[in-house]
Amino acid sequence: MAAHQEKKLAEERKHQNIQNDTKASQGQWGRAWEVDWFSLASILFLLMFAPLIVYYFIMSCAQYQCSLTDPLLDLLTGNKHLSDIWNRTPMLTYRAAAIYSLWVTFQVFLYVSIPDFCHKFLPGYVGGVQEGAVTPAGVVNKYEINGLQAWIITHVLWFANASFFHFFSPTIIFDNWIPLLWCANILGYAVSTFAMIKGYFFPTNAKDCKFTGNFFYDYMMGIEFNPRIGKWFDFKLFFNGRPGIVAWTLINLSFAAKQQELYGEVTNSMILVNVLQGIYVLDFFWNEAWYLKTIDICHDHFGWYLGWGDCVWLPYLYTLQGLYLVYHPVQLCTAYATGVLMLGLLGYYIFRMTNHQKDLFRRTNGNCRIWGKKPEYIECSYLSVDGTKYYSKLMTSGFWGWARHFNYTGDLMGSLAYCLACGLEHMLPYFYIVYMTILLTHRCLRDEHRCSSKYGKDWKRYTAAVPYRLLPGIF
Ligand code: NDP
Repeated sequence: MAAHQEKKLAEERKHQNIQNDTKASQGQWGRAWEVDWFSLASILFLLMFAPLIVYYFIMSCAQYQCSLTDPLLDLLTGNKHLSDIWNRTPMLTYRAAAIYSLWVTFQVFLYVSIPDFCHKFLPGYVGGVQEGAVTPAGVVNKYEINGLQAWIITHVLWFANASFFHFFSPTIIFDNWIPLLWCANILGYAVSTFAMIKGYFFPTNAKDCKFTGNFFYDYMMGIEFNPRIGKWFDFKLFFNGRPGIVAWTLINLSFAAKQQELYGEVTNSMILVNVLQGIYVLDFFWNEAWYLKTIDICHDHFGWYLGWGDCVWLPYLYTLQGLYLVYHPVQLCTAYATGVLMLGLLGYYIFRMTNHQKDLFRRTNGNCRIWGKKPEYIECSYLSVDGTKYYSKLMTSGFWGWARHFNYTGDLMGSLAYCLACGLEHMLPYFYIVYMTILLTHRCLRDEHRCSSKYGKDWKRYTAAVPYRLLPGIF
């Protein structure tokens, strides 16, 4: 009887918490309503330079054996002019345009036309129709979670082609890498521009739109929260999760195939990069339903930052290690390779377990076991926009007791492992860890700023109980 009452009470509390979270966070969601000068300057910088940064990295591999300094030195000393570099850059080709159009069309087809069947036979996998978090306007979107299926079908076809059909060479991606970059840019700009126009003239949900009045800020950070076409084509989920991330592992496989073609072997460093990044990508798809609750989907609007970023930045810069290894086929000694593998796996374990602990804690409203014990937490309250008081909990057990964002730390350890897999001779593969450190530190500060204004005094109690952000004892 007591157990039954306890269960009922817990369910009521859970229900109340969900409602509380729903109402209260409406006022604290998403990007800013007003633009400060610093944000505007950063945005203008990114709009102008991010495409150049991507071009610079890819061009320096193609023309300068991945040296980041030689192109600059050549230009500064007058050895070369910009036009010399540009004239040696492959242009957009019909072949690349055809490959890219086919690729995106195929991913759209897999996304909208084949309902998920993986969840019917894979134990523990959550797929099929799932609900996202409630939006500021109170809308709960439904998503067809079928990314794992799209990834599997795409890769089965890739291997079937490479092993049996031979319709195209597996080096196809590497061989068209720069022409494909132009296609990715065209799509990235087209989709961001379309999203902007759509936000103004035919938004999916007008109440979830944000306008700052500043054209550049709105273009970059997006107007619509969840732009959609029809019932199921969700821009944020599709562009975040499909053309770029499904391609990530194929791009790496193509780089491995190129190594094989050029040197007659695939180095252990290339295998390491393929395996570690493959685990990360598969994890993303296995947990796609959980991804609906992350900051990307719950707080970011859809603009150039996500649209162009997913089409260009992600597939081109997240795969730099594999590209580098085509030009520099590093063979690692066994001890070093084992060390890198261990670091990558440990990073992945921390990343996944930390995210899992929070997910379990929130799903069960604290009625679970973390590391074999009942979790400890801080009761928090916060006010909604209409002044009503609500309650939530911040866990201080497990990895969440070690640091406030230990999931980011695990992610960073994994990222470092990808870079270390390329040896220690060049800077270029290390761009990824530098970028991820900036991205996740900024994200951590951004999130804490939001939590601090949401929880006020209670956030202070939490930060006193868990004083470090990413590295216990250091930061
Ligand atoms: P988190 O999953 O860390 O979520 C942060 C939110 O969790 C907070 O806003 C707060 O929300 C809640 N929270 C904070 N502390 C606690 C606590 N102690 N107990 C319970 N809830 C808490 O953030 P992200 O969505 O950014 O990250 C998800 C994963 O995605 C990370 O592992 C990250 O590394 C990865 N990632 C990878 C990227 C890549 O490019 N490879 C890019 C971005 C993320 P509330 O208001 O509900 O309290």
